[in-house]
Amino acid sequence: MQLKGKTAVVTGSNSGIGLGVARELARAGATVILNSFSDRPEDHELAASIGKEFGVQARYIQADMSNGEACRALIEKSGGCDILVNNAGIQHVAGIDEFPVDKWDAILAINLSSAFHTTAAALPGMKAKGWGRVINVASAHGLTASPFKSAYVAAKHGVVGLTKVTALEVAGQGITANAICPGYVLTPLVEAQIPDQMKVHNMDRDTVIREVMLTRQPSRQFATVEQIGGTAVFLSSDAAAQITGTTISVDGGWTAL
Ligand code: NAD
Repeated sequence: MQLKGKTAVVTGSNSGIGLGVARELARAGATVILNSFSDRPEDHELAASIGKEFGVQARYIQADMSNGEACRALIEKSGGCDILVNNAGIQHVAGIDEFPVDKWDAILAINLSSAFHTTAAALPGMKAKGWGRVINVASAHGLTASPFKSAYVAAKHGVVGLTKVTALEVAGQGITANAICPGYVLTPLVEAQIPDQMKVHNMDRDTVIREVMLTRQPSRQFATVEQIGGTAVFLSSDAAAQITGTTISVDGGWTAL
């Protein structure tokens, strides 16, 4: 239980990668705070079930990451944040000349500005303790681009930049800041697309994954939420104490191309 005694706040963690990260941090013994914008009984039940499964404290706190005040309030309500995982994110795909302005604003707010607000709120406590981990879930799109994803690519490159600045400002104080850059990850949303793709392309599961979905991922295999979570656990460990201001790609070779 290497993270016993640490409290981890994971934004956007009632599904997908955030949930996988929260589960792996809990498995490593951390108290975990789950978050999303909804406030349903099942959100709180999810946190309770993680707490029970791993024998740790786990809580769900509603906060809309598109709102700066709410981001800061999440950290306040957590009652301490040793490990901050900025994971909440959304996507919209359209050409720049027709990209809806409200979608641009929302993607920048949720994928980038939320990390600024939560980091600003969490750093004073980390500095006081002389220990902290800021882990930003960026993307292969924080390092490379694709057409029709202007807001997402801009936000994720921004997250990588914010990560570097955070690392420099706290260097030598026991606090590190790094970005995990996943390629294509097998989340429930992605899993749900596979049967349709199989039908449309008249291919079996493995072929549609290899030939249609993962053409940019040389391994032709998805990364898993457990692998992203395991990377977050590693970045939280003592072995990673001198790893700061950098990106770790979990992308099957995407960014090596
Ligand atoms: P997901 O849709 O399953 O998860 C997104 C999470 O963010 C959900 O919990 C959702 O409720 C939450 N969220 C959305 N808007 C929010 C808001 N306004 N306030 C609070 N929470 C909010 O998607 P995912 O694939 O798990 O993505 C998680 C992160 O990983 C994102 O930042 C995404 O850009 C990044 N990422 C995903 C992939 C992939 O292939 N799935 C690849 C690279 C990076």
